[in-house]
Amino acid sequence: MKLTPMQYVCENDHKFLAPNLSPYLYGEFLLRSRNGGIRYLDAVADPVFDNVSHLVRQVLSEENIKVPDWLDIFQDIFGEVACDPDVDGTYFKMNLPPPCPTCGTYMMQSWDSANSDPVETDVANVTHGGWDRMTEAEKHYHIRTAVKEYFLNTGNTPYTLRDGL
Ligand SMILES: [Zn+2]
Repeated sequence: MKLTPMQYVCENDHKFLAPNLSPYLYGEFLLRSRNGGIRYLDAVADPVFDNVSHLVRQVLSEENIKVPDWLDIFQDIFGEVACDPDVDGTYFKMNLPPPCPTCGTYMMQSWDSANSDPVETDVANVTHGGWDRMTEAEKHYHIRTAVKEYFLNTGNTPYTLRDGL
């Protein structure tokens, strides 16, 4: 597939180029792992995307948790709960930028088109072997656990999320 070179500026003002999907695509995502692996996701064609988004909203509703945007949670947990990890076990993550080659940070100030030609790149699709082997009850449990961990990690745990899972 064709990837567009993007110019990133990290939190420490380092500028670097890294390939990404065109920002004009709808429903297509590039997931990255922290070891540099990338996978492609076509959300419209992938039933697991719908499946997980439904479960995230269901868990939030069951726990009576109101959030400004459930998609923030979805994008944070989708790669880890529903996509097979990289060969070394590293999880893929939606919206994870490439690391800065100078200082290693994943925190970016900005990214923008580098105005250079797209580059043909081999990118494998995300796969869901582990997810597909789970029962419906296991899927629900995994999403519930991941939503709880999301709130713990953001330091903003709604009191309605009970301790005992
Ligand atoms: Zn940097």
